[in-house]
Amino acid sequence: MTDPYDVIVVGAGIVGAACARACAAQGLTTLVVDAAGVGGGATAAGMGHIVVMDDSPAQLALTRRSQQLWGALAAELPSKVEFEPRGTLWVAADEEEMQEVRRKQVVYSAAGVRTEVLDAHSLAAAEPQLRPGLAGALLVPSDAVLYPPAAAAYLIHQAMDLGARMLPSQRVVAAGRGQVRMEDGSSLSASRIVNACGAGAISLLPELPIRKRRGHLLITDRYPGFVHHQLVELGYLKSAHSVAGASVAFNVQPRQTGQVLIGSSREFGEEDAAINHTLLAAMLRRAQSYLPRIGALKTIRVWTGFRAATPDKLPLIGPWPDDPSLLLATGHEGLGITTSLATGELVAAEIAGVKPEIPAQPYLPARFLDGSRAASQQGLFEEAAHD
Ligand SMILES: Cc1cc2nc3c(=O)[nH]c(=O)nc-3n(C[C@H](O)[C@H](O)[C@H](O)COP(=O)(O)OP(=O)(O)OC[C@H]3O[C@@H](n4cnc5c(N)ncnc54)[C@H](O)[C@@H]3O)c2cc1C
Repeated sequence: MTDPYDVIVVGAGIVGAACARACAAQGLTTLVVDAAGVGGGATAAGMGHIVVMDDSPAQLALTRRSQQLWGALAAELPSKVEFEPRGTLWVAADEEEMQEVRRKQVVYSAAGVRTEVLDAHSLAAAEPQLRPGLAGALLVPSDAVLYPPAAAAYLIHQAMDLGARMLPSQRVVAAGRGQVRMEDGSSLSASRIVNACGAGAISLLPELPIRKRRGHLLITDRYPGFVHHQLVELGYLKSAHSVAGASVAFNVQPRQTGQVLIGSSREFGEEDAAINHTLLAAMLRRAQSYLPRIGALKTIRVWTGFRAATPDKLPLIGPWPDDPSLLLATGHEGLGITTSLATGELVAAEIAGVKPEIPAQPYLPARFLDGSRAASQQGLFEEAAHD
């Protein structure tokens, strides 16, 4: 029997949607299957900040490439995607953080990312709601914001225009060896299968080095012009990205609607979507310490979502060494909205056998499979926590 599909993508979050679009664009016959619909999961819970990050050279390469791809797509995105090139302001509280601003500028500049250093006066002029006395900021004008579920829906529509098919409301219970088995007992075959299930990827492959990392977001009523850029504290690099323990950081986004999206928190070890009111209060206190008047804004909704975290803070993109038919596109933690497009590009290049735009090697799942078969994934996270 011939394979009816070249590729089956399991998961229609923004990463699966980007993979499907890129595969269909390579001329591959593509099916997307999702337990629910398009753009659910973490994609519906995410902040939609398209951001270049430089925790590591590999993270910089993936986020930079993705930001360029989003920039190239911007003109054709429908208005409901709410894409806006707001730019990021990495806010420095003191002189020590200004040194980080200058270090970051050198690194970004070497990667071809234009930035601007703002002193205290320019920062206050750019964002009058910020508390007085901050030292300055790094402005990254090419960073953007968008509405993630609408972006995922757009990518799926593009994939379908290129011939892909979408199968919603079908939970996959097994995927591998060229077969995808659904909860209703039916199965489909394909030459290659892409596990793009986000934090749910481990349900299909329990040995994956992925842990759920819960995050809270709060959205306010409409206050147009309250802030103008995505505002992130530079301390974010120290606190929010530490691997162990819960943390909060000042991270605020102006929405096109005039609403203000307030984040963010990170917690391991939580499996349910309930609000942690203690952590939420700490998150809001952190925001208020930068934006003193933010506490007066009316809250509309608070929610949580689950990031898929890996021990080395890089996603798992590429072939799963144990199964030649299986690829992974998961583990994007807090950057999957940003990095979805470059992930799709890498996955499609691997399947089509073409050279990718950026080296695939740093993201290959095989990096976690040593002789002991990644014996204890918990151990990997514990080692990383001591970094
Ligand atoms: C609070 C918060 C804020 C964030 N902010 C940002 C941000 O500003 N910028 C950024 O770049 N990223 C951000 N992220 C991260 C980003 O949201 C995720 O990395 C991204 O959405 C992951 O997309 P995904 O497609 O891999 O997974 P998901 O969006 O979770 O999609 C997975 C899909 O797989 C489906 N699925 C799962 N299991 C199965 C199965 N067995 N069978 C069939 N289907 C299945 C699900 O239904 C779902 O639709 C944030 C995340 C959180 C939680």
